[in-house]
Amino acid sequence: MWMRRDLRLADNPALSAALAESSEVLPVFVNDPAFGSAGAVRRLLLDSMVVGLREAMGGALMVIDGDPVTEIPAIAERIGARTVYVAKDFGPYGRRRDEQVAAALQSSGRRIRGVGSPYAVDPGGVVKDDGKPYSVFTPFSRRWREHGWAAPLEAPVDPNWITLDDSAVEGGSSGVEPVTESSVLDRWAAFRDGSLDLYKSGRDLPAIEGTSRLSPYLKFGVVHPRQLLADLDPTSPDHATFASELAWREFYADVLLRRPESAWSNLDLRFDRISVDTGRSALARFATWCEGRTGFPIVDAGMRQLAETGWMHNRVRMIVASFLVKDLHLPWQWGARFFMKHLLDGDLASNNHGWQWAAGSGTDAAPYFRIFNPTAQQQRWDPEGEYVARWIPELGTNSYPKPMVDHAAERAEALSRYAATKRS
Ligand code: FAD
Repeated sequence: MWMRRDLRLADNPALSAALAESSEVLPVFVNDPAFGSAGAVRRLLLDSMVVGLREAMGGALMVIDGDPVTEIPAIAERIGARTVYVAKDFGPYGRRRDEQVAAALQSSGRRIRGVGSPYAVDPGGVVKDDGKPYSVFTPFSRRWREHGWAAPLEAPVDPNWITLDDSAVEGGSSGVEPVTESSVLDRWAAFRDGSLDLYKSGRDLPAIEGTSRLSPYLKFGVVHPRQLLADLDPTSPDHATFASELAWREFYADVLLRRPESAWSNLDLRFDRISVDTGRSALARFATWCEGRTGFPIVDAGMRQLAETGWMHNRVRMIVASFLVKDLHLPWQWGARFFMKHLLDGDLASNNHGWQWAAGSGTDAAPYFRIFNPTAQQQRWDPEGEYVARWIPELGTNSYPKPMVDHAAERAEALSRYAATKRS
């Protein structure tokens, strides 16, 4: 059982299938050098999750460094495994890697078997009556709900793990604080019994704990969306809104599967014509945004929350992203790359399509005119100024910078650049 983005025992269909096929299973995690492109905070979190899982398996999880394309077939050969079980990966890198591993296994008469994925419905599984994909969220989410998903599976009882002599070497010695499945489920239970019933109104207020903060654990599969969906009350509008946020995650994974190039290029090709700034002064403006010194408190608070904690509230992600694209006229890819480096929950599909949403180049139909006014947004969502004060201690003093741009002027500039693409 090769564990990747399913670092849990409960409701793990691939693991359950492996244990159903064979009385003994070797669980393996491969520290792929490709993970080096993730930011340091996310890599550290991943280590903590792997250590947590290893503990939960009584030390049986074999943790190795290397290229899975050579390591996985080598281990399968060593223990004489016929099948390597995985949860399917639908990301561009994961799909390529798994094809290579499958080919390498096949050459020695073995196979890879994908069961389930990090999603309630596998990407590609929600289609229109004519079999075509959805390009708009609302009908996708309706069909996604109709499609449905299985009830969560229990964790395996007393599984027989194969342990190899050398598998105990790494992992436990890394000294990181383990993140455990049970602590994540406790976090979910606390949110479910608390803020979830006020989710519709609370989720947009960055000063409070109005959201689950489960995104990093969903990303690596310490918890599966099925486990959350199974706990929801179908009659509650707040619960329905929460389910719909999970549907956004699934929608973006579906879009990325069908249009892998949309990870870094405009989904809507008309946006290739919009003029963006990339020169020296653009880089300086970008640095000011990264440092959280724009002079717009809600933007700066968000960027500092990200730098200090590896997480940023969703409402604020939308505001800082809009600011980068429409007030500073910078390429959304710059912001997306910075987010991917610093976010604990950094996920190519959700992040880069979140950015395309802000840039207007994504799946949304007519969003370019939605230019957030950072001051009005702050007044609306942080009316007492609690959130901004928390992250900007020098707010209200001379050390806090003046606004780096005039929002009204930049808004007009953004609209005129957009209009120019229509004429060209
Ligand atoms: P909750 O409100 O508790 O939502 C529950 C879960 O639903 C989240 O954990 C997440 O898995 C999913 N979800 C919620 N909102 C969205 C959304 N808009 N799109 C996709 N999934 C969603 N989310 C990531 O997981 N990784 C990213 O790299 C990421 N980058 C983003 C970049 C931008 C510019 C924007 C606007 C949004 C981004 N999001 C990303 C979506 C969203 O901001 C986070 O999922 C959310 O803030 C996580 O906090 P939470 O777990 O408390 O969310």
